[in-house]
Amino acid sequence: MVLAELGGRIAQAMRSMTSKTVIDEEAVDNMLKEISSALLSSDVNVKLVSSLRKNVKNRINLEDLATGLNRRRMIQQAVFEELCEMLNPGKKPYQPKKGKPNVIMFVGLQGSGKTTSCTKYALHYQRKSWKTCLVCSDTFRAGAFDQLKQNATKARIPFYGSYTERDPVKIARDGVEMFKKEGQEIIIVDTSGRHKQEASLFEEMQQIAAAVEPDDIVFVLDSSIGQAAHDQATAFKEAVSVGSVIMTKLDGHAKGGGALSAVAATSSPIVFIGTGEHFDDFETFEVRSFVSRLLGLGDVGGLMNAIKDAGLDKQPELYQKLSQGVFTLRDMYEQFQNVMKMGPIGKVMSMIPGMSALMTKGREHESQERFKKFMTIMDSMTDDELDTENVNKIFTDTRVFRIAQGSGSHPQQVWELIEEFKRFQKMIAKMKHLKIGKNGEMPQM
Ligand code: GDP
Repeated sequence: MVLAELGGRIAQAMRSMTSKTVIDEEAVDNMLKEISSALLSSDVNVKLVSSLRKNVKNRINLEDLATGLNRRRMIQQAVFEELCEMLNPGKKPYQPKKGKPNVIMFVGLQGSGKTTSCTKYALHYQRKSWKTCLVCSDTFRAGAFDQLKQNATKARIPFYGSYTERDPVKIARDGVEMFKKEGQEIIIVDTSGRHKQEASLFEEMQQIAAAVEPDDIVFVLDSSIGQAAHDQATAFKEAVSVGSVIMTKLDGHAKGGGALSAVAATSSPIVFIGTGEHFDDFETFEVRSFVSRLLGLGDVGGLMNAIKDAGLDKQPELYQKLSQGVFTLRDMYEQFQNVMKMGPIGKVMSMIPGMSALMTKGREHESQERFKKFMTIMDSMTDDELDTENVNKIFTDTRVFRIAQGSGSHPQQVWELIEEFKRFQKMIAKMKHLKIGKNGEMPQM
């Protein structure tokens, strides 16, 4: 996503500063200047940027820095906390409740990605074993019902709508009524959009809200509008009680940083972000995880969620091993297989601490090929080699040469794999502190 560029620039500014031998006020100022310019180019509000700059400076104690005491960590922490602060809406979103109907109404302008997000949202919960369904009450845009029907059919989600009924309020009410009787848990009501914020749109939204009494109103917003997100979010909030926000198209727009911070400033919690046109291009938004990934620091919490979503948490042994910090080449092999199961490799890798650096933007395919090559090499290893925890001891030049021959690769590639494995092993050792349940439940962060 384009935001990766922003993250890359911030991370680079921090790196170049922490690698300096003398860290004085000037060095900190230079770093902050670079971070500010990165944020401004991502369309973040100038006032927010200047307060971030001031606050980071206040957090950093230059005297401590002069002694080199945990220098890197301290600076990283200050920038991290301030970025989180900037994106923190200070309010918690609605949490659907299991075993009862949760009516979720979607609102937003036409073209914002509302219908697509409805399906993504339904699918997200369906994968977590919720009974989800869709109601199309958009009678304004021709073809809206067909689009929702197509999406719903593709994702195997029950839907309701009408080709003949023109009253959106009636459709919404009937659909919600029917699905409540069926015992559905997440009933999503897609409403009409308009090209502009206008009175008729807001009136219709209010009427539908009065008819279906939603538990949450999700406002869908296209991130490409940047700072203007502030006014749009405010206008929708004033018309209906918006409880959550989904921000779309964060895959393609440099203004994403501006939109995210602008919405946070309206005290609206962003719950999901859309990162592409496919149903899987949808991520839970949690400020600390997001900033962590943005800065290339990894996101163990998000990774664990992705593992859970892919059903891989049904493998308690893997969790036990990770929790003990034990990691062998065989585990890495299985991890590669798992990562491929989990979906787009770039997304998964960005959640693993230290791994985002390995992924070059736009070269995910190459990375995937590289993993496949590594797996072929591992296929030529013996059980002892795959199960050792001490690769330095077991791999001699002769063995590496044989493995290379057996797998049709160059010895250099085998060494490269061993080096990569050592990096992974170190990273897993760092994850040791995670509290992981006996049955592989998610760790508490
Ligand atoms: P609606 O009019 O608000 O219901 O918008 P749609 O759901 O029809 O989406 C409008 C266009 O935006 C479609 O072409 C979608 O495929 C596209 N779209 C939706 N969400 C995203 C996203 O997160 N990223 C990208 N790149 N495109 C998106």
